[in-house]
Amino acid sequence: MNSKNFFKEAKKVLVGGVNSPVRAMNPHPFFTEYGAGSKIYDIDGKEYLDYCLAYGPLILGHAHPLVLTNLKKQLDRGTLYGTPIELEIKFAKKIINHVPSASMVRFVNTGTEATMAAIRLARGYTGRKKILKFEGAFHGAHDSVLVKAGSGATTHGVPTSKGVPSESTKNTIIAPFNDLDSVERIIKRDKLAAVILEPVMGNVGCILPDDGFLQSLREITEDNDVLLIFDEIITGFRLSLGGAQKLFNVTPDITTLGKIMGGGLSIGAIASSKEIMRHFSPLGGVYQAGTFNGNPLSLNAGYTTIQILIKDRIYNKLNSLRVKITQGLEDISQCYDLDVKINGIGSMFQIYFTGINVNNYSSALKSNKEKFLKFQRGLLNKGVFFPPSQFECNFLSNAHSKSEVDTTIEVFDEVMSVLK
Ligand SMILES: *Cc1c(COP(=O)(O)O)cnc(C)c1O
Repeated sequence: MNSKNFFKEAKKVLVGGVNSPVRAMNPHPFFTEYGAGSKIYDIDGKEYLDYCLAYGPLILGHAHPLVLTNLKKQLDRGTLYGTPIELEIKFAKKIINHVPSASMVRFVNTGTEATMAAIRLARGYTGRKKILKFEGAFHGAHDSVLVKAGSGATTHGVPTSKGVPSESTKNTIIAPFNDLDSVERIIKRDKLAAVILEPVMGNVGCILPDDGFLQSLREITEDNDVLLIFDEIITGFRLSLGGAQKLFNVTPDITTLGKIMGGGLSIGAIASSKEIMRHFSPLGGVYQAGTFNGNPLSLNAGYTTIQILIKDRIYNKLNSLRVKITQGLEDISQCYDLDVKINGIGSMFQIYFTGINVNNYSSALKSNKEKFLKFQRGLLNKGVFFPPSQFECNFLSNAHSKSEVDTTIEVFDEVMSVLK
C-alpha cells in the first residue's frame, strides 16, 4: 500500500479521507510512518523537513527522548484516574510563574474547549453577551466563533459554517485586525463582555499586530470595562515562555493556551486572575467540566516540554533560524522577480504571493493562493513540508539545525526558479 491507495481507502470510511479538513491535500496527503526530530517520514519511504510540526505543537520536534521517557514512566502508572494528581499543581504553578495574566488555571483537552470556556467565563463574569472577534481569527471549531474564522474555514471557502444557527453568532461582532477605530466604535456602541484575539494571527498565515495595536486594545478595553482575552494557543510558549503577552508587554484578563503545552498530546487551558477564575464551577456559576481534563498523559508530556523550554532557553536560537529562513525566502523571491510578502516573528512565518502589505484578513485573501499551492507542492516533492494552505503558518522547532535551514533555502531556489 502507498499513500495514494490509502487515501482512496480512507475516503470510503472517513469524510474526505481525513479527520480535520486542512489535511485533505491534493491529489492526496502523505500517510505518515513516523516522526523524528525535525523530520517526518511517510509510508512511501520519503522523508521531509517538517515546517508544519502538527500545525504548531511540536516546538521540540518529533519524539523528543525525554518527553518519551517520562511518558513511558507515566504509562506504567496508568493513563487516567478521575482524581486529582500532584502534577496538576506543579504544572499550574509553572504556567503562573511565566504567563503574566495567569494566577489560576483550568486544564481542558483542546484549544477549542479552552476558548469556548474562556468566552463563557467572560460572559458569566460580566453578565454581558456580546463578544468581539477579528476577521480571519480562528478560535477553534465551536459555534459562537465560527464567524469569518481562519484556518480550514478560510481555505475551504466556508467562512461561516452551515449548521450554526444565527442565534449562536448574533452576539459575535467582527472587526478587521489592526483597525483600532472599528474596535473603538463597536465598544462605544455595544456592551461587550470581551474582545478575543490571537495577538499574532496564525490561522491566516502569519499576521503581526501593528506597533501599539495590542497596547491600545488593552487601554480601550480597560477604559470600558471589557475583558481582553488573548488566545495564545499558538503563541503561548512559542514566542516566549510567557507567550505574546510577555513579548509585547501587554497583559490580557484571560488567556487561552493549548498546542505546545501538551508536548504533542491533546490539551488546552484557561488562565486568568483569581477574581475571574473563581467564577468557574465548582466555586462559581460558570459551568466547565471534562472527563479527560488535566489527564496524566497530556500533563506529563506538556510539563516535560515546558521544563525543557525553561532550561534550554531556545527562543533566541529559534528566532535567528527564522530570520535566516525568511531572509532566504526574500532573497530568492527577488532573484526570480516574484511579488511576495513574508511575515514572521519568533519561530513562526509565512510567505504570501502578493505585492501588498498583509496585516489583516482581507489583505491576506488577496494573495495568489494557486501560486502558494504550486510552491508548497514543489517543496513537498523535494522533501520540504509546508502546511498545504496559504492560511496556515510555518513553524520551526528546536530540532531544526542551521544546515537543515540552508538545505531548505536551496530547495526554495530550485522550486522558485520554475514557479510561474
Ligand atoms: C489550534 C487553535 C485553536 C483550537 O485548538 P484545538 O486544540 O485544535 O481545538 C484555537 N485557537 C487558536 C489560535 C489555534 O491556533
